[in-house]
Amino acid sequence: MLIDGEWRADGTPYEVTDPADGSLVGEVRFGTADDARAAADAAARAFAPWSETPARQRADILLAAAALISERAADLALLLAREAGKRLPEARAEIAFSAEYVRWFAEQARRPTGAVVPHEAPGKRHLTLRRAAGVVAALTPWNFPCSIQARKLAPALAAGCTVVARVSEKAPLAVTELIRCFTDAGLPRGVLNLVHGPAAELSSALLEHPAVRIVSFTGSTEVGRLIMRQASRRVVRPLLELGGDGAFVVLDDADIEAAVEGALIAKFRNTGQSCIAANRFIVQDGVYDEFVGRLVERTDALTLGDGLADPVPDIGPVIDAGRVQAVNSMVDEALAAGAKRLTRERALPTAGHWVQPALLTDVPETAALGCQEVFGPAAAVFRVTDAEEALRRANATDLGLAGYVWSRDLGRAWRFAERLETGITGVNDALPSAAFAPLGGVKQSGLGREGAELGLEEYTDVHYLAVGL
Ligand code: NAD
Repeated sequence: MLIDGEWRADGTPYEVTDPADGSLVGEVRFGTADDARAAADAAARAFAPWSETPARQRADILLAAAALISERAADLALLLAREAGKRLPEARAEIAFSAEYVRWFAEQARRPTGAVVPHEAPGKRHLTLRRAAGVVAALTPWNFPCSIQARKLAPALAAGCTVVARVSEKAPLAVTELIRCFTDAGLPRGVLNLVHGPAAELSSALLEHPAVRIVSFTGSTEVGRLIMRQASRRVVRPLLELGGDGAFVVLDDADIEAAVEGALIAKFRNTGQSCIAANRFIVQDGVYDEFVGRLVERTDALTLGDGLADPVPDIGPVIDAGRVQAVNSMVDEALAAGAKRLTRERALPTAGHWVQPALLTDVPETAALGCQEVFGPAAAVFRVTDAEEALRRANATDLGLAGYVWSRDLGRAWRFAERLETGITGVNDALPSAAFAPLGGVKQSGLGREGAELGLEEYTDVHYLAVGL
């Protein structure tokens, strides 16, 4: 834990294991609510000096941190790959993406501006300023533990806020080392703190702390609701990046080869454990057989194995036994309700946590696999007659994070995308994430945006000044 500039290794040991084979990767020490409060106290003390530090100086420290992340990328990626069961190239990409967030917001730190409004009353002037909102609780999941934490703390620190981070116990090691890059880069004590420990106990302590003004949470919609309820007690601003139920729509004029390549990325990246994953394939009649046939063939050819193996496999393990059980029960429920498995079944490793990559057809719309976030390498495939039916199916969900549409007719795809109820839409693009892009959801996928100018604004308050001359 990092509290008030001190790295601490007291507390109860908690072992972190490799999802590929169960071997020990390392350990963290679990703290308590008292540690969370001490971290928030430190962040509260550090707030005035940090928020008053010239933006240029804040930016320089963040740039130095980004440089250290890049310098240490190989070690960080290795640790991340082991603890989260990632394929090494994906772990490397995540570390590079984390550094990019820090760099982008360091550059952006110097740009936020207010406005001077033309005055309408004689003897008065009106202006708005943007100022740092206060102490931020940054609570993050295990699926992209480094880049998701980076895209919270980079804009928060750039804006002049101070932070207490709590990270998932399932993959806490690489992100701890990522945070070390900030202290090694010269971030003043107390500006960034890190606590490990029981989720509910630590986040409640943070949300009850009088200095915490923002809770920036990424995780499931279920836990997001709890956080929002707790945040309401002290009217803490909730920034929520929650679950997704991404529709991947293939219209009948799509470039099928490109759509299949996109589908493999959108479904199987990070073994399907991505909030923007393709969750449901919705394919128009005219290209259904060709698209689904190709996708099944390619899925059956995907190799499965430890993400550190050479050659690198196409799919790794899932995070833990709970995930194996959750995905398998969705698939089994759909099969029992009359769905058919299109992909082959293969022998899975006995040690570690593995799930069959699976595509199913004839899944009832009411079965969990057809209407809930899967968060694993399985998906339902639906055949539709036209774009209107595709749209109805795509929007038939309470979630609205990412969606995808594939068509060679950009005008048609554009119009379709305009009616998709999502915060992020990939038009002929399976990888829409970028530091300069405002990412976030609509409906029950969350509140607020991360990345881009908007991502910085979330950590500021507008302060309006009326000045009598
Ligand atoms: P989760 O909701 O179970 O956990 C998220 C974090 O909250 C973890 O650190 C966990 O320890 C903590 N937590 C769990 N119970 C809590 C409680 N009662 N009070 C406070 N904190 C609690 O989610 P997960 O399994 O870690 O991550 C997967 C989910 O996150 C998926 O639903 C996925 O879609 C979502 N996600 C969303 C985005 C996005 O940008 N919208 C990105 C990544 C993941």
